[in-house]
Amino acid sequence: MELFAKTEGQRLSLFHLACLFFHGDRENLTVKREDGEGEIRVALTLGERTAQGTAPVNEKLHLEPARAESAAVGLAFARAAEDLSSYQPPYGTLIGVRPVKVPLFYLERGIEKTELASLLEKEYRVSKEKAALLLSLAEEELRAKKSLSPEDAMLYLSIPFCPSRCSYCSFISSSAPEHLSLLDGYVTALAEEIRLTAEAMAEDGRRLRCIYMGGGTPGVLSPVQMERTLSAVKEAFDLSSLAEFCVEIGRPDTVTEEKLALLRKMGVDRISINPQTVHNATLERIGRRHTAEDFYRAMALAKKHAFPVINCDLIAALPGEDGNDLLRSVDEVLALQPENLTIHALSLKKSAEDRATPAVSAALRQAVEEGHGRCINAGLFPYYLYRQKNTASDLENTGFALRGKESLYNLAMMEDLSDIYACGAGGIGKAVSRKGGKIRRYAQYKYPYEYLADPDRGRELLAKRKREAAEEGDA
Ligand code: SF4
Repeated sequence: MELFAKTEGQRLSLFHLACLFFHGDRENLTVKREDGEGEIRVALTLGERTAQGTAPVNEKLHLEPARAESAAVGLAFARAAEDLSSYQPPYGTLIGVRPVKVPLFYLERGIEKTELASLLEKEYRVSKEKAALLLSLAEEELRAKKSLSPEDAMLYLSIPFCPSRCSYCSFISSSAPEHLSLLDGYVTALAEEIRLTAEAMAEDGRRLRCIYMGGGTPGVLSPVQMERTLSAVKEAFDLSSLAEFCVEIGRPDTVTEEKLALLRKMGVDRISINPQTVHNATLERIGRRHTAEDFYRAMALAKKHAFPVINCDLIAALPGEDGNDLLRSVDEVLALQPENLTIHALSLKKSAEDRATPAVSAALRQAVEEGHGRCINAGLFPYYLYRQKNTASDLENTGFALRGKESLYNLAMMEDLSDIYACGAGGIGKAVSRKGGKIRRYAQYKYPYEYLADPDRGRELLAKRKREAAEEGDA
């Protein structure tokens, strides 16, 4: 692909648009951006064919200049691409990982819903169905945002360990036996960081609303280690304002009766048990060393312990699976009546052979849409959505929930609605500036061995957070 534009930033945005609209054809594509008086012009050449698109830098969009320009580039590109590409991306020119941000921006500025749907379709080339979906998700987020006050904060606890390592794993997780032997010391260090974090939050007058323990596979903790971790939380924090306490157990083969009873006793009201697929051949292929039967057994145990919310994760486009395989997994999981179901798209490695052909892409997208429809028929509604770079067939990740059982943590984390304090290796805390919404990030070490080697890092990050909040006038 050849890209002609004045700056590297301009070339990058054209590259993302070309990936969206042209998939496998993009190697033969030439893209030229030229700016006219108050308008953007994009010229595309694909083989012998050329097409041009123009769009005004539209002040009526209520956007600040940089965003208005980027919306105009998208529209000019889409107008040219519509003549050359047979593919129309469902989310149009919304290239970001959080497409809901755009309608949320307009909703917050009082733009009326019908006008907003038409704006998404016309200015951002979003399909009618996805425009309606994004609008409903934006309303959901607005509701969540209004339910949170500036003092509210979330706590993320990272357990970056796993009993084995799947071929597609993009998380920082340690599975080798020598790493698992670090777990006991890790829990001790984590408990200390939890204590420090609680102190810092209390000093800053923060109110803890949600706790989320994720991984890796937190289920890898023994009952004793789990109890030590959760006790550290209960001893350190005032939990009187807590709305959610979630433990993402992860792999079904780590679920035991003893751990579930303990989680309930400690006040955990949400768990996640993630089969990813119900096909044993796939599980073996991807090196995820559990079976569908492990998942059914874990679900039966979780139901017995009456967790108010159980989430299950599935992944579309796993190696060797087609749309029918995905739909069977969706049906099997829905039959168990989880309160939440999240359908992810497999994040691909960068190599070209991992990319689906357009035909496979279309079939897969259709199956994913069908899967979403089946979730809705089962009484769940979509409440959050995000995309990752390099997902199979440019699919999105969508979280479904029974009404009233949505995860506030997921919404807050995904859309930067609230500050997050993160403890443990791989954890990334966030502070959302109260003036202008700028995000400041506080990353712990990635690997447990680094985390254990420098126990002062947590304290330093908390001090840095405090200092920067004062500098920004957020304190
Ligand atoms: S179970 Fe999850 S965290 Fe563990 S290796 Fe597989 S993908 Fe990674």
